[in-house]
Amino acid sequence: MIRIENVSKWYGQARVLAGCSTRIAEGEVVVVCGPSGSGKSTLIKTINGLEPFDEGTIVVNGVSVGAPGTDLPRLRARVGMVFQSFELFPHLTVRENLALAQVVVLGRSRDEAHARGREYLARVGLAGFADRLPAQLSGGQQQRVAIARALCMDPVCMLFDEPTSALDPEMVGEVLDVMVELAGEGMTMVCVTHEMGFARKVADRVIFMDQGAILDDCPSEEFFGNRAGRPERAQQFLARVL
Ligand code: ADP
Ligand code: MG
Repeated sequence: MIRIENVSKWYGQARVLAGCSTRIAEGEVVVVCGPSGSGKSTLIKTINGLEPFDEGTIVVNGVSVGAPGTDLPRLRARVGMVFQSFELFPHLTVRENLALAQVVVLGRSRDEAHARGREYLARVGLAGFADRLPAQLSGGQQQRVAIARALCMDPVCMLFDEPTSALDPEMVGEVLDVMVELAGEGMTMVCVTHEMGFARKVADRVIFMDQGAILDDCPSEEFFGNRAGRPERAQQFLARVL
């Protein structure tokens, strides 16, 4: 589903991605972790073309992200992305937030878009919240709406960038529950997160990044089960977060 080959990126003199390569199969759930500033957000945003890169190749669902002729808006429409800061439109109700891109980008009728919105709102446990504004929801509810909004677009895969980092602790669980369910339904997911409980329980694979490079990329049982076998930086990171 996602092939990343030798991807590098510089900001001026600073190399923020250093020859990153990995492959993510359909239905696979991959957690990306590593210290702050290690390039996790940059890498995940290259996957849907939100961040350009200088070298290498990324192919998502058969589409080469960096190629000159690629229709990036079209690719982005099919790659769901959920950020730390929910990014809902503050002046639109939940219902309108869910419908907007379906109508504007996919050309669905308003009825169809609202029907789909209702379906996914129920799936994230928020049936009955359609007429609220984002400010009338808790952070956890807003993030669940953001996930529902992404799902309304029938994404081929979902990217999560620290989706629970901005939440009060008591709301982390409700968002992770939705992600666990999504993983169980076979969604291809790339999740930047420090929620190691989620990684251990749900991830097929864990990628550890440091200074722009992928230092470790292995099945999660191995990542958590054989800590002594991990690169030293990954061991130090695990010792801090576990
Ligand atoms: P992470 O998500 O792992 O915390 P990021 O991908 O956000 O890391 O950042 C990787 C590196 O790129 C950091 O050193 C950061 O300072 C740098 N960086 C990110 N965005 C920019 C930018 N717009 N200009 C210059 N440097 C940037
Ligand atoms: Mg980040």
